[in-house]
Amino acid sequence: MKTVGYAAHSADSELVPYHFERRELRANDVAIEITYCGVCHSDLHTVNGDWGSQPYPLVPGHEIVGIVKSIGTGVNNYKVGDHVAVGCMVDSCQECDQCHHGEEQYCRNGLTGTYGSPDRIDGTTTQGGYSKHIVVREEFVLRIPEKMDTSRAAPILCAGITTFSPLREWNVKPGSRVGVIGLGGLGHMAVKLAVAMGAEVTVISRSKRKEAEAQQLGAKGILASSDEDELTASANAFDLIIDTVPKKHDLNPYMPLLDVDGTLVIVGQIGPLEEVMTYPMVLGRRRIAGSLIGGIEQTQEVLDFCAEHNVYPECELIEIDQINGAFERLAEGDLSHRFVIDMKSLDAD
Ligand code: NAP
Ligand code: ZN
Repeated sequence: MKTVGYAAHSADSELVPYHFERRELRANDVAIEITYCGVCHSDLHTVNGDWGSQPYPLVPGHEIVGIVKSIGTGVNNYKVGDHVAVGCMVDSCQECDQCHHGEEQYCRNGLTGTYGSPDRIDGTTTQGGYSKHIVVREEFVLRIPEKMDTSRAAPILCAGITTFSPLREWNVKPGSRVGVIGLGGLGHMAVKLAVAMGAEVTVISRSKRKEAEAQQLGAKGILASSDEDELTASANAFDLIIDTVPKKHDLNPYMPLLDVDGTLVIVGQIGPLEEVMTYPMVLGRRRIAGSLIGGIEQTQEVLDFCAEHNVYPECELIEIDQINGAFERLAEGDLSHRFVIDMKSLDAD
């Protein structure tokens, strides 16, 4: 099937229109016309080559919402016209223990990313959601709940699940004290989801500049990580901290904010941290952990949770030809919401 998207052709080039083919449907495939796609900082890291060299041309995008256009002969769970979604994975081995217990993101044989991964069957490079269509095996297609506004759903597919998963894993419940470092795409979803679970949430930001946004999202306050006195006054104040910072950074100011047995979960940066002092860990059994997106079953769970609790990402709709400007804004880190591409804008190309 012929389609069109926006692709990067090298680490230092802008995204430009790109015509390419989606595969013919296999028996278990669903063909989706994409209506919206969120713009994740991971898209930027990937096309910039921050995580290693890439198989360009590369169409990013893994917060995908759309409508089923056609189905393979063996597809049972979806029909033409269904509102569906695709997140960060489009395949995994389906045979290992991790796949069997619904954590395909930790597949022993490696997950297949929505873009930039070799397809498990024909070896072609997967291409993501900054495009008009996508073809995905049905096991990796999610259902958009009936009452959900599809124009505001896309960021749940990555920013939502990536923060929901650790909130669940660390058993956040009414009364839990949660800190969120970095109020961007992931951070703002972490705040909304933790608040919906009944937690008391504080944003830990580089400054107080985003205070009004933090409060609107339901946070009880904002701590400026640049203010040492403020951090000292908040020692032992959190059970869980979710760290969404996308760059190399220093964890030492944050560890004493955890209570005994508290955990700081890194979901942002991949790569080396600044040197970490072990005192707070040893003296308070505090932990540093990491977490990668979430499994397919849990991705459906967060979609359903958001529909039930009326939790929506803050989405700023953009046209696809504004994507390079959106990447620049994302690189600056001044957003406290998500850009979402309205794929209708791709018709004009
Ligand atoms: P984003 O919208 O750009 O938000 C990141 C936030 O981090 C910024 O809004 C800013 O918040 C803070 N920040 C930015 N630069 C900083 C710096 N130099 N030092 C300290 N804080 C800084 O990005 P995002 O889409 O939320 O993604 C965040 C990170 O998560 C990215 O690295 C992305 O690749 C990663 N990610 C991981 C997973 C996973 O599965 N683990 C999934 C998706 C994304 P303040 O202004 O409040 O400080
Ligand atoms: Zn993402």
